[in-house]
Amino acid sequence: MMIKKFNKIIIKVGSNSIVEPKTKKIKSKWLDRLCKDIAQIHKTTKIIIVCSGAIALGSKKISKSVLRKLEDKQAAASIGQIELAYQWRTKLKKYKINVSQILLTLEDSEVRRRYLNARNTISSLQNKNIIPIINENDTVATEEIKYGDNDKLAARVAQMIGADLLVLLSDVDGLYENNPKKVKNAKKISEIFKIDKKIENLAKSQTSELGSGGMTTKIIAAKICSDNGCTTIITNSNKHNPISSININNSTFFYPSTSKNSSRKKWLLNHLNPTGSFIIDEGAKNAINKNKSLLPAGIIEIRGKFKRGDVVSILVKNGSKIALGISAYDYNDAKKIIGRNTNEINKILGFEGRDEVVHKDNLVKFSS
Ligand code: GLU
Repeated sequence: MMIKKFNKIIIKVGSNSIVEPKTKKIKSKWLDRLCKDIAQIHKTTKIIIVCSGAIALGSKKISKSVLRKLEDKQAAASIGQIELAYQWRTKLKKYKINVSQILLTLEDSEVRRRYLNARNTISSLQNKNIIPIINENDTVATEEIKYGDNDKLAARVAQMIGADLLVLLSDVDGLYENNPKKVKNAKKISEIFKIDKKIENLAKSQTSELGSGGMTTKIIAAKICSDNGCTTIITNSNKHNPISSININNSTFFYPSTSKNSSRKKWLLNHLNPTGSFIIDEGAKNAINKNKSLLPAGIIEIRGKFKRGDVVSILVKNGSKIALGISAYDYNDAKKIIGRNTNEINKILGFEGRDEVVHKDNLVKFSS
């Protein structure tokens, strides 16, 4: 199985794959097959599903014709979403897999605090082997404030949780040198190492019936992933074992242009201005040098009015800055626990806080 080497996979299911375009009903047999495939892979891999189809499913309860008004689409989404969630829950339950529902808006991946909260929720679910089923929160998202399509949403989720693979299930095998629906014998591209203007132009020609995506949004998603150290695969949803049968002959692979670590580092360094600083002792400095987290015991002093989720500079006693990190505590709470043992946090603060003040995944060391 080619996708075996990936550890965290996002599978994006489009409206056209999961909803019958004419009847607007769930493609139940197809979903059964997909769930069987997912259940196999889930044994060794963390999976997140980003699933469209709420508007398509709900629209039949509102009108026979295509919905045009935003509020009608929002209403349809709120009707269809419960059915979507129900379908996933029932079908994965057969394999003793529990699911959860997460509805996101654009701000949840752009505003730092919300981004961190969403990320923590997803990782907590994953630690409990639960598969999150994600969709855009269409009921509150209006044109200006939405992702717009689930290809982009899936790419943002991949970036948020540091996934190493995004699978975009589609009604075509991948990106072709010509539009396969118009040109006979059009050649599929197997591997793409760089998403340039030529690739973007190739993608412009295809749109689909139900969803809002097309090849263009898939390429935008692949680009976001590539810049964040994540591989993207476009593959046909309509094959037996749609995920485990993936290989370069039946799909298009887009490879990352950077490693996951360096892209996270770039994000931290570019996005965030430190609002505070931690002065740490020799032991904590050694721990950081060994890629470990910063615990409260190693912090001697804190400065600045930072909030939870803000970036702080990490300095040694002589004042030299050795790292940047995201603080798991605000100034007031951090002040109470510095110099103390991790197992005292609960008692001091009166709530179950994190063991690390800066977790190693949220820490960027400066090369000395
Ligand atoms: N969120 C929309 C839905 O569930 C779909 C967006 C898309 O098609 O990409 O209906």
